[in-house]
Amino acid sequence: MGFDYAPAPESRAIVDIAPSYGLFIDGEFREAADGKVFKTVAPATEEVLSEVAQAGEEDVDAAVAAARRAFASWSALPGAERGKYLFRIARVLQERSRELAVLETLDNGKPIKETRDVDLPQVAAHFFYYAGWADKLAHAGYGPSPRPLGVAGQVIPWNFPLLMLAWKIAPALATGNTVVLKPAETTPLSALFFADVCRRAGLPKGVVNIVTGDGRTGAALVAHPDVNKVAFTGSTGVGKQIARTVAGTSKKLTLELGGKGANIVFDDAPVDQAVEGIVNGIFFNQGQVCCAGSRLLVQESVRDEVLDALKRRLGTLRLGDPLDKNTDIGAINSAEQLARITALAETGEAEGAERWSPACELPSSGYWFAPTLFTGVSQAHTIARDEIFGPVLSVLTFRTPDEAVAKANNTPYGLSAGIWTEKGSRILAMASKLRAGVVWANTFNKFDPTSPFGGYKESGFGREGGRHGLEAYLDV
Ligand code: NAD
Repeated sequence: MGFDYAPAPESRAIVDIAPSYGLFIDGEFREAADGKVFKTVAPATEEVLSEVAQAGEEDVDAAVAAARRAFASWSALPGAERGKYLFRIARVLQERSRELAVLETLDNGKPIKETRDVDLPQVAAHFFYYAGWADKLAHAGYGPSPRPLGVAGQVIPWNFPLLMLAWKIAPALATGNTVVLKPAETTPLSALFFADVCRRAGLPKGVVNIVTGDGRTGAALVAHPDVNKVAFTGSTGVGKQIARTVAGTSKKLTLELGGKGANIVFDDAPVDQAVEGIVNGIFFNQGQVCCAGSRLLVQESVRDEVLDALKRRLGTLRLGDPLDKNTDIGAINSAEQLARITALAETGEAEGAERWSPACELPSSGYWFAPTLFTGVSQAHTIARDEIFGPVLSVLTFRTPDEAVAKANNTPYGLSAGIWTEKGSRILAMASKLRAGVVWANTFNKFDPTSPFGGYKESGFGREGGRHGLEAYLDV
């Protein structure tokens, strides 16, 4: 991705985790007004990593007030000056990327080779990209003087903690907004580290505020009367709740919700390449990815060949210590998420689908789920319809391109799809018929800050990334 990185981090010793962390409000860390805290644990070991402040309404109030105070001068800065701060943040993120990769892996459970090679480079790339826009907003196609909205309240999930923060904060700051961000309760640490990055980059106080806590903190932020813009990534259920809260106010809203992506493999696709794409599509980040390719649609004539190759490949995946740079499959983020995945897999079996996993020993502590395939899946099965958000692939077949499109679109979601074929004309024809915000061809889970990302249907609305990502933070 074009950035220089230090050698592979392999030890948690390189990151210094304090026994407790406060909220980051108005440039300072402070305890919650009522002194409440919660624990964050390493999902791979269940070790308590730290105690973190649980923000209540009073704290959310203080954070929004700090963001409001900072807004006047931040929004009045020339774009080039705001851009300099974003460039500085990007550089500090690069300098601290080894520590951040280890911290993220500890708190989230995902393999270090993902945080090191995907999350952290993408995080820095987002800040660099939007830093470049800060002085070019008049050329973004939204009129000569687009204006920032004010205070943005941002609520993010646990699957890409720092990357979701970057997707939210970088465009908000570039466009002159100030921010109160709430990270997920199971992964607060990298957002707090980021608060320190902001201080090191000299960002004026109050421009970025981080309030840690659970759904109650998120709900208080979303409902706060002095928030002008709400941006949420997470479950469709909570997204709908937030839409109801925001309805009837003047707040602007973007939602990035769940998905049930189809990875469509035609009989002319190179099998080995497609198998890598299928594995990346559903086992990257243990399948806890909103745009995961969680449904494999394979053309009937090559079903057996593809499944045999896929099973052989799954047999070579290494599950275990996320800090080991050879690990492919890390831990599930929380006991709750593991319970959800387990229950849905059991439903798959109970409804008659055939379950398969490679021989694989699970560690005795921590939250683990073996890579799993279901064959004999029909569209009526729960596991073909519901988002599992885990390392579970539902395999369906099709005969014709039209049948593939119909099956791929047969979902309330519309976030992602993949096509594997040698025929360029087929890619173009399919891509225009698939109701998905992103369609990958002969690749999967490829991200780039220049490219807008977002959903159709119940996967949400609004776009993050690219020029379109600016629009969500501007009055045009
Ligand atoms: P969630 O939607 O409950 O949580 C996401 C964020 O929203 C967290 O920061 C949480 O504290 C906050 N939140 C919860 N309730 C809120 C409320 N009422 N108002 C405001 N904020 C609130 O997701 P989860 O419990 O972490 O995961 C549940 C399911 O959501 C997963 O199984 C998966 O299907 C889906 N999910 C999707 C994404 C995605 O990227 N689209 C990410 C995480 C989870």
